[in-house]
Amino acid sequence: MSSSERFYAALRREKPDRIPISLWWHAYNLSAGIGFREFARNGEKMAESHLAFLSKFKVDFLKVTPCGAYFVEDWGGRLEYLEEEASVRITDYPVKTTEDWEKLEVLDPKRAKLHREQLKCLRIIKNKIGKTIPFLETIFNPLTTATKLAGDHQVFSDMRENPSALKRGLQTITETLSDFAQACLDEGAAGIFYSIKTGSADTITPHQFDEFNTPYDMKLMDAMKEAEVRMLHVHSEKPGAELLIDKMSSYPVNAINWWDKGTTLSLRKAKDSLSKKFCLVAGLDHVGTLLKGPDEVEREVKAAIEMAAQGGGFMLGPGCTMNAKTPERNIAAALNAATKYGKY
Ligand SMILES: [Zn+2]
Repeated sequence: MSSSERFYAALRREKPDRIPISLWWHAYNLSAGIGFREFARNGEKMAESHLAFLSKFKVDFLKVTPCGAYFVEDWGGRLEYLEEEASVRITDYPVKTTEDWEKLEVLDPKRAKLHREQLKCLRIIKNKIGKTIPFLETIFNPLTTATKLAGDHQVFSDMRENPSALKRGLQTITETLSDFAQACLDEGAAGIFYSIKTGSADTITPHQFDEFNTPYDMKLMDAMKEAEVRMLHVHSEKPGAELLIDKMSSYPVNAINWWDKGTTLSLRKAKDSLSKKFCLVAGLDHVGTLLKGPDEVEREVKAAIEMAAQGGGFMLGPGCTMNAKTPERNIAAALNAATKYGKY
């Protein structure tokens, strides 16, 4: 089977020849010997970096991972680029007051500078690899995007005190992201990696989830309905976090990725409760095992396969973006172990 056939078989919750695997991070620039700032701001360099990673590591799908806040700049904010961490710090939020939500404008992703670079990156990847390896563009959901435009404090205080202003901002963001998602699909992305950072009980209440995530997620998902792949990523950072997974179980996605080692949703639990509906993408601990050694990684891959492979509908993936310091030998070990233990 080709990577593409393997990926789509698992996505349909069938059994491919073996378990598909992918790993992703912000530090693709390391594979191409390019600085992070350059990678993050230039579509050609971004594509070159993803392709360099791909030629080194034969993953079964490619998650295109731009810097986590490039859109902040297109909306008038400012970023500081952290080379070592392959990350950014937001130094100036475009939304500083409640009133700023109203001033936020819908962006045209084909004209806004860093959105345009992002689309260029996808175009180059598509020209290079065609459909041999499916690639997904990362999009944060509207509420997560809002927290990056205004900071958590502003967003959560507006939720309580100025909900209608915040909702106008969310509407603007949703319209922009709907156009952007469509543009990504037009450039050849197989689908969208849909990341929600406001989906665990330590970040949001169930009531707030219903009011400030769901309606905007549904609108954006509707704009993505032509996508072959909608992979939901429920982000969490706090060990032991409880994901509000019931809130998302009716989302129109075909796969779910989350940190199975760091949340109350273990792989076993997900296999029991979610695998009839979604392909599960998990198994690798991005903050633990992947920073240790190849032997630990191999053991983790084997254990995840024993736990979740049965019946199909499983892919190996990290709980979130890998740390920029993840040794390449560990990435290679994960891929080798998937081939060694993952055959059906
Ligand atoms: Zn994450």
